[in-house]
Amino acid sequence: MKTEKVDVLVIGAGPSGTVAASIINKAGFKVKIVEKMKFPRFVIGESLLPRCMEALEEAGFLDAVKEKGFQEKFGAKFVKNGKVCDYFFADQFTPGWSWTWQVPRGEFDKTLADTCEKMGIPVCYETTVTGIAFNGSDSVTTIEDIDGNKSQIEARFIVDGSGYGRVIPRLFNMDKPSNLPPRKALFTHTVDTKRTMDDEPNRITIIVHQKGIWIWVIPFSNGITSVGFVGEPDFFKSNEGTPEEQLRALIATEPYLRERMQDVEFVFEPRVLESYSVSTTKFYGDGFVLTGNVTEFLDPVFSSGVTLATVSSQIAAHLVIRKLNGENINWETEYTEPMMQGVNTFRSYVMAWYEGTLDTIFFADDQVEEIKSMICSVLAGYVWDIKNPYVKDHTTALTKLAKLIRLRDHQKV
Ligand SMILES: Cc1cc2nc3c(=O)[nH]c(=O)nc-3n(C[C@H](O)[C@H](O)[C@H](O)COP(=O)(O)OP(=O)(O)OC[C@H]3O[C@@H](n4cnc5c(N)ncnc54)[C@H](O)[C@@H]3O)c2cc1C
Repeated sequence: MKTEKVDVLVIGAGPSGTVAASIINKAGFKVKIVEKMKFPRFVIGESLLPRCMEALEEAGFLDAVKEKGFQEKFGAKFVKNGKVCDYFFADQFTPGWSWTWQVPRGEFDKTLADTCEKMGIPVCYETTVTGIAFNGSDSVTTIEDIDGNKSQIEARFIVDGSGYGRVIPRLFNMDKPSNLPPRKALFTHTVDTKRTMDDEPNRITIIVHQKGIWIWVIPFSNGITSVGFVGEPDFFKSNEGTPEEQLRALIATEPYLRERMQDVEFVFEPRVLESYSVSTTKFYGDGFVLTGNVTEFLDPVFSSGVTLATVSSQIAAHLVIRKLNGENINWETEYTEPMMQGVNTFRSYVMAWYEGTLDTIFFADDQVEEIKSMICSVLAGYVWDIKNPYVKDHTTALTKLAKLIRLRDHQKV
C-alpha cells in the first residue's frame, strides 16, 4: 500500500481543521489535510461570533474571507411577542472584535481550505479516514479515496477536526452523551425577496416562538436568508407532511415571520438535524488532539460552534508545535481546562435560555447597561475573559440577575 510521511495529519477541512493546519504549517511543519467531501459542501453553522475573528486572523484567512463580501454581522437581536432586545458587539465589556460575518458555510469553508492550499498545504478531498493505529505518539492512518483506493499516512501527530464525523472518538469508543436533552432543528435557505433594511440583515435574529421553541433568521449578502426552527422533538410532531409542508406550516404560525416568508421560495428541501449535542471522554491522547465539534457540541442557540471550533484549533495548534519541538505538554491544564472554561460558560447560557432565565433578562425593562455589556461579551464569544463576572460566575450570575428583575417587577405592581 502507498505510504506518505507527514509531521501532522489534519482530519477534516472545516474551520477547525483549516485553522489548525495553517498555524502548524506556518511554524514550518509538513501538514496534510484529508477531507471526506468534495468542496463546496453544505454544513450548518452560518452565524459567526466576533471571537472567531482572532483565530481566523492568526491563521491568515481574513483577507481571503473579506474578498468574498459576506454579510457583516454586528450583533444579535432577540424577539418575543413583539418585544425586541438588541445586543451590539461594539458595546461589549471585553476589549475585542465588534463584528464578524454571516456566511453560507459551503463557500466560507471552501475559502479557508483554498487559502490553505495556497499556503502549500495539500488538501486531499473525497478521501475518508477509515482507521488509525497508534504506536506511542506516532501513527499510521488508513485513508480511502472515492474510487476505493486505500493508502496510508504516517504522522507524528494527528489533529482530529472531523466535526460530526467524530473520527477518533468513534474509532476508539470515546463518545459520551451530552448532559443537554435531545433537541431537533428543521431549517432551509429562503430567497428572501421581501427583506428590507428594517429587517436588520446585519445581525442574527432569534425569535422566541413559544416556550422551548425558537427560530433563527440569518440573512446572507446574496439575498438568501437561513431560517430554522429549534426545540424539543415532540413539538415537531404536531405538523404532518413533507419537511417543506411542515416548515411552511410553522412559519405561518409565527407573526414575526409570516408576512415576510409567506410563499417564499426554499433553496433546498428543509433538512432535519436531531440529537446533535454530544461530548467525548477526553480531548487528547498520545499522538492526537480533538478540536472543534469533535470535542463537545452544545446547541445552536448562541452560535458558539464555529467559535469553539476555531479557538480550540488555535490553542491546540500552538501545543502541537511545542510538542513537535520536543516540549512536554500538560494537555489537561493547557488544553482541556481552557476549552471547558469556554464550553461550560456557553452551557450555562444555553441552559438559562431553555429554562426561560434569559427571557426574563433579555426582555426586562430598564436594563443596566453595564450588565448588558457583560452579557454581550458572552454573546460575542469572549467566554475566556474571567474579568467579566458574567463569565467568571456563569453558573449563578444569570439566575441571580433574573431573580432580582422578577422581584423588582413584582414590587412595581
Ligand atoms: C442546527 C444547528 C445550527 C447551528 N448553527 C450554528 C451557527 O449559527 N453558528 C455556529 O458557529 N455554529 C453553529 N452550529 C454548529 C456548527 O455546525 C459546528 O460547530 C461547526 O461546523 C464545527 O466546525 P468543525 O470544523 O469542527 O466541523 P465541520 O465544519 O463539520 O467540518 C468537519 C469536516 O470533517 C470532514 N470529515 C468527517 N468525517 C471525516 C472522515 N472520516 N475523514 C475525512 N474527513 C472527514 C467533514 O466532511 C467536514 O467537512 C450549528 C449546529 C447545528 C446542529
